[in-house]
Amino acid sequence: VNGLNKVFRSKGGLFKAAREVRALDDVSFTLAPGETVGIVGESGSGKSTLGRCVVRLERPDSGTLSLAGTDFTTLTGEELRRQRWRVQMIFQDPYASLNPRTRVGYAIAQGPMANGVSREQAMKQAGELLDLVGLGAVAVDRFPHEFSGGQRQRIGIARALALNPELIVADEAVSALDVSIQAQILELLEDLKQKLSLSLLFITHDLRVAAQICDRIIVMQHGRIVEQGTAQNVFLSPKEAYTRELLEAIP
Ligand code: ATP
Ligand code: MG
Repeated sequence: VNGLNKVFRSKGGLFKAAREVRALDDVSFTLAPGETVGIVGESGSGKSTLGRCVVRLERPDSGTLSLAGTDFTTLTGEELRRQRWRVQMIFQDPYASLNPRTRVGYAIAQGPMANGVSREQAMKQAGELLDLVGLGAVAVDRFPHEFSGGQRQRIGIARALALNPELIVADEAVSALDVSIQAQILELLEDLKQKLSLSLLFITHDLRVAAQICDRIIVMQHGRIVEQGTAQNVFLSPKEAYTRELLEAIP
């Protein structure tokens, strides 16, 4: 990620002034294969915007993204569609992106089917993935509402994995879960990373969670990176006052 910028502009109206938010301000970093990098920072610091740009749900105004030599910034249309599987995103509430009328197995199989895998093969793989994330292959025939929040997060992870991505962006993926379920999901992600040599961009406002799972930490404020380093360095000897404030805010 090199020199990424993104500005959101809202038009003014009768009762509100026009507004400009610099959500990303010259953001640059690298992520090695198999590495987990944490993006932390207060609400509104640009973490989700960065994640959405990395998976190209959002288009940056300027700067470049490249994935193992492919320039992702300029990909559009059919070319973007063909490469998009390489980066997948998991969200805070996977329920929001799971169709309540679609059985879980089919929801997972859709991505691979759109990429030319046969229905039979994709459904078989969906069962295997549900097994891998600890729900058991029988889950294929069930509907999203039949699962708890933590289980739905496992479905979200299985769906992201179905396309065999090189990078997963997790945006507050465990923030809505209680602490013991958080620990289970973090353990699952760790385990999968080992098995599948995945890179993980782990967005969280929770520094404790970041400390548990991340190799490296990037601290953001007002759309800028204010500090980055190994988790050890950032948490044990933060250089920036802002990072110290974030750490002091942990109860
Ligand atoms: P949180 O921890 O609350 O999730 P965040 O660090 O993920 O915050 P972003 O969602 O990236 O923050 O938002 C960064 C800034 O950009 C905020 O000021 C936000 O209001 C603004 N913003 C984000 N998306 C849009 C959009 N689609 N339109 C206008 N402004 C936006
Ligand atoms: Mg966010």
